[in-house]
Amino acid sequence: MNRRDILKYSLVSAVAATFAASVSASESKETTVLAVGVGSPAPLPEATGPRVVVVGGGWSGLAVAKYTKKFAPNADVVLVERRSEFISCPVSNLYVVGEVDLEFLTHDYLQAARENQYNFFNATAVGVDKTNKILKTSNGDIKYDYLVLAPGIEYDYAPWGIDLVTEQRLRTEYPAAFIPGSEHMTLKNKVQNFKGGNFILTVPGGNYRCLPAPYERACLIADYFKKHKIKGKVLLLDENAEITIKKEGFQSAFNEMYKDYIQYVPNAKIISIDLDKKTVVIGEMEESYTFADGAFYPHVRGGKLLEVCGVAQDTAFNKMEGNIDPFTYEAIGVENKNIFVSGDARPMGYSKSGNTSNTEGRYLGQLIAQRIKDGNDIPWVSPLTVCYSSVSAKPERAISIRAQYKFEGKTLAGFTNVEMSEQWKGKVGLENGKLLDAWAKRLYADMFHA
Ligand SMILES: Cc1cc2nc3c(=O)[nH]c(=O)nc-3n(C[C@H](O)[C@H](O)[C@H](O)COP(=O)(O)OP(=O)(O)OC[C@H]3O[C@@H](n4cnc5c(N)ncnc54)[C@H](O)[C@@H]3O)c2cc1C
Repeated sequence: MNRRDILKYSLVSAVAATFAASVSASESKETTVLAVGVGSPAPLPEATGPRVVVVGGGWSGLAVAKYTKKFAPNADVVLVERRSEFISCPVSNLYVVGEVDLEFLTHDYLQAARENQYNFFNATAVGVDKTNKILKTSNGDIKYDYLVLAPGIEYDYAPWGIDLVTEQRLRTEYPAAFIPGSEHMTLKNKVQNFKGGNFILTVPGGNYRCLPAPYERACLIADYFKKHKIKGKVLLLDENAEITIKKEGFQSAFNEMYKDYIQYVPNAKIISIDLDKKTVVIGEMEESYTFADGAFYPHVRGGKLLEVCGVAQDTAFNKMEGNIDPFTYEAIGVENKNIFVSGDARPMGYSKSGNTSNTEGRYLGQLIAQRIKDGNDIPWVSPLTVCYSSVSAKPERAISIRAQYKFEGKTLAGFTNVEMSEQWKGKVGLENGKLLDAWAKRLYADMFHA
């Protein structure tokens, strides 16, 4: 049984077990409480209009839910999310080095639902009945007219060829901190209690979540070590041949600010990891490095929900991303149509960023609203990638990129309208630092307020 089979088997078994429990529970009058679950109707009021169910309350799903309702006020929008509060990945590298607190990153789903007039439904989606247009969740079934799947990414450790014991140890002892919450808390503790030696960070291949974030993280942790006079350095093992984005800016920061605090190693494909000896072997020459602590960022893949719902495909970049039309985001070859995939789980080679997901979510919300109104689509609009990356804290200096995308036919031709500010020195860098703060506040306000 391979990894994918195990995944499918365990999800199917879990769903079957819950379903069986709910069926037998509904037969027994004494245990009716257990009947609320997969297979029984979700405790939601009757839909008041065409029902749009959005799974995933991340940067994408929040925008889709808000803008669908905004452009189609008669729609009955339900946002299904397994977490009970939102924690932001953007700005989390500043949290890791103690420059912002968790409260700045944490936001209230109920407020977003109240202000934007949709329902927040706190549950895990576990499958879809496409024939009857029903989303199955851990807290009951929801009938939909339109279904948007925005589950983000999951980690894919398979390219490292490690066993499940090592994988589980990596997830627990060296979490990547590219999915928010406990992983970021663990990383913050690691950095702030670091005594010295190599602090390993890895940059995966493929189209990983937030291209600049591993380099930003390396700079901020190096900055922390330097300021706190910690005799350690960041060992940045990059599977790619060179820095994947904002190269000039990060390279100059590595060389000029953190010469003794960052060791950057390109072409560092991981061959093996020994967590007991704390060694990692990389590249064709099989070079070995030791580490005292750190975080291992593996390849990413689309959220497993896509695979379970039968709307996933392997792409040139990653495994199991949405099998969709790149302009309408609609899943291909699906009975009864009206299933969409957006956010980091999309297959297009966009930068997997919060701003990309947010602007794309606005477009998709508007597209679904138009379909509700008259069955037509709106003209395609490129998402917008805007990203400020800190290279130092106190004073905060950052570099930035702003870009859109163009297609040739159905093939993504690449970035267009690119504006870069790779300069972190002087006023420009300081100004970019302020813009990062303003950007985050603007996007949080967009997602959580009317
Ligand atoms: C360290 C770091 C720094 C970053 N910095 C920036 C930055 O400066 N600027 C920027 O633009 N972007 C940045 N990003 C990238 C940004 O965070 C992601 O691109 C963005 O979160 C993608 O949004 P999404 O909605 O696709 O996925 P997510 O935000 O991950 O949301 C997916 C949601 O779906 C939920 N979910 C998944 N499966 C289910 C299920 N079965 N049932 C119910 N709910 C489910 C998850 O709980 C999650 O809340 C950064 C990321 C990291 C990690």
